[in-house]
Amino acid sequence: MNERLNRLANLPLRENLQGLAPYGAPQIDVPIQLNVNENTHPLPAEVHRAIVEEVSAAAVGLNRYPDREFTELRERLAAYLGHGLAAENVWAANGSNEVLQQILQAFGGPGRSVMGFPPTYSMYPLLASGTDTTYIPGVRSADYGLSAHDAAEQVKAAAPNIVLLCSPNNPTGTALGLDVVEAVYEAGRASNTVVIVDEAYAEFAHTGTPSALSLLPGRERLIVSRTMSKAFALAGARIGYLAAAPEISDAIRLVRLPYHLSAVTQATGNAALKHIDTLLANVEAIKVQRDRIVSELTRLGFTPASSDSNFVFFGGVKNTKAIWEGLLEAGVIIRDVGIPGHLRVTAGTEAETTAFLVRLEELLTQGVNNSPS
Ligand SMILES: *Cc1c(COP(=O)(O)O)cnc(C)c1O
Repeated sequence: MNERLNRLANLPLRENLQGLAPYGAPQIDVPIQLNVNENTHPLPAEVHRAIVEEVSAAAVGLNRYPDREFTELRERLAAYLGHGLAAENVWAANGSNEVLQQILQAFGGPGRSVMGFPPTYSMYPLLASGTDTTYIPGVRSADYGLSAHDAAEQVKAAAPNIVLLCSPNNPTGTALGLDVVEAVYEAGRASNTVVIVDEAYAEFAHTGTPSALSLLPGRERLIVSRTMSKAFALAGARIGYLAAAPEISDAIRLVRLPYHLSAVTQATGNAALKHIDTLLANVEAIKVQRDRIVSELTRLGFTPASSDSNFVFFGGVKNTKAIWEGLLEAGVIIRDVGIPGHLRVTAGTEAETTAFLVRLEELLTQGVNNSPS
């Protein structure tokens, strides 16, 4: 590996990529995978059948380029989102990661900056370096919260070209109040800052949690990003999307590769969106397991953050390494997000959640968490 690293170092790589490591949650083939916040329920049979049929029909025309504007997909996504949105308000790409990358390509770049509030989604700094945009890490309070006042002051002081707000936030799981989004948007008025609210986990939020979609009217610099990777159980299909003023899509059209969404991807998304109710049927079950994890972890003496997502971030872990490894030995993989004393676990099926909790309690009984790593 060192030999390879040396060879990489000899290449004329861009300065801002030198020494970086690629995104890399471990992909380990164990029975219970609770480390990357996927929907662990298998695709419902009805949705699977619909996708196979629609992809099969699309395959007949694979000699031709796909609809460059993926019009049907945008119409279906707009209808799903509601809030009076139409196809012209929606843009899609290969996962919301690509949506975010395209936004950075259009509004960031050399000499420009993007601000995030760590701990937050680990891809943000990588998307920044990939587009040669300066990443400005903002500061949260000690309990990882972010108030409207603190966020707005920091945005005013840094005057970034782009702000990334993650709500519910990954890895902490907590949703931001809309007052934070409104304050950040206002604070960015002087600097003409584009504000992105990454709502990858919006469908898992507690009932009554408002979406930033409701703030879109009259705010042409606001973008709400969503994905089909989490609640929709389609991480493998790579479909993410955004809602914003139509001119945001016009800006992205300047940087997107032509035909970036394959005919197979479009067919998959369209078929799935014809069965939304079935597709989202497991969301409530996942929320039940999420709440169960929070209360069980509390009972076991940990300090889980309140979660509006399909995962739980918990503190009180004295020995993150031993707990992580002990779970893995039992075929359960969760996530060490690199924050001392904390781990993150995805809410899986009831059986998967039980396996995680049982093994964790076993490890505690064995004293595995009694001394630091
Ligand atoms: C999982 C996740 C995404 C989704 O990425 P895709 O590219 O759509 O699979 C986006 N943002 C956050 C914060 C996530 O955790």
